[in-house]
Amino acid sequence: MNRIQRIEAMQQESARAKQSGQRLALVPTMGALHDGHRALIRRAREAADHVTVSIFVNPTQFGPAEDYDAYPRPLEDDLAALEDLGVDTAFTPTAGDLYPNGTEDNVTWVEVEQLADALCGAERPGHFRGVTTIVAKLFNACRPDVAVFGLKDAQQFLLLERMVADLCFGIELIGVPTVREPDGLALSSRNRYLTPEQRAEAGILAEALGVGREAIVSGELDTERVLARMLRHLSVAPTLTVQYAEVVDPRTVQPVRTITRGSTVLIALAAYLGQTRLIDSAFVDAPLIPAA
Ligand code: AMP
Repeated sequence: MNRIQRIEAMQQESARAKQSGQRLALVPTMGALHDGHRALIRRAREAADHVTVSIFVNPTQFGPAEDYDAYPRPLEDDLAALEDLGVDTAFTPTAGDLYPNGTEDNVTWVEVEQLADALCGAERPGHFRGVTTIVAKLFNACRPDVAVFGLKDAQQFLLLERMVADLCFGIELIGVPTVREPDGLALSSRNRYLTPEQRAEAGILAEALGVGREAIVSGELDTERVLARMLRHLSVAPTLTVQYAEVVDPRTVQPVRTITRGSTVLIALAAYLGQTRLIDSAFVDAPLIPAA
């Protein structure tokens, strides 16, 4: 496996691989790799001949009171995991490589309007501007044909699809279903912050999504009632505080009041367990005819 830090070297590596006829995949990550990341990398391997995984904890997507400094950075373990997975290139730039003028003096940003306003965008001002900007930079550095992201970060995926279309990147995006623990908890690098008590409670988020899905699939079209059932389910968890629970239209990421039969909606949840913020979501197909 190659390890590359500099953007120019990465661009040369991609050009070399393309010249030899290879199809290139990129899997952007912030490291602290887990089985969710592994699923993305395996999917990238199916879709391409040459797989690059980037590891970069992007400062501009963290708010001032968020966990940028505390974010786990087990780089040596991550590189060993990438080697085991048969990854071709580990791209490990520094902040100086990706923000040559420093993050304070970076004046060029990529913003996807409207889709970034709701859900996590409303709670984390500037977060998605940081995400779309860094992904655009990584696309320019790695020049992939295909890029693989997790549907766990559903709003992020919808924004990136829109960014790729609106900016004519010509890159195929693949979304990989969320990888979960046996109790349903979505794998996340932040799960390691949970105390054993919080961890024991955390599976309830996925359960609540299941309650919402069940309601919609059995014919409930009023999102207030869907959300009320989910919140009732979550209310039994003593240390969990819901930040948002919404049913949105995946095309606009705007709340849906009445679900249209035959449409797909996204149920999205964010909650705090102590200081740790967890998100989870589910795409649900509302049936044309309610289940009996
Ligand atoms: P992160 O390192 O948290 O920035 O995540 C890197 C990529 O892995 C993103 O595309 C995430 O959506 C994806 N990802 C994170 N957790 C999971 C999971 N549990 N299942 C599938 N993909 C995931």
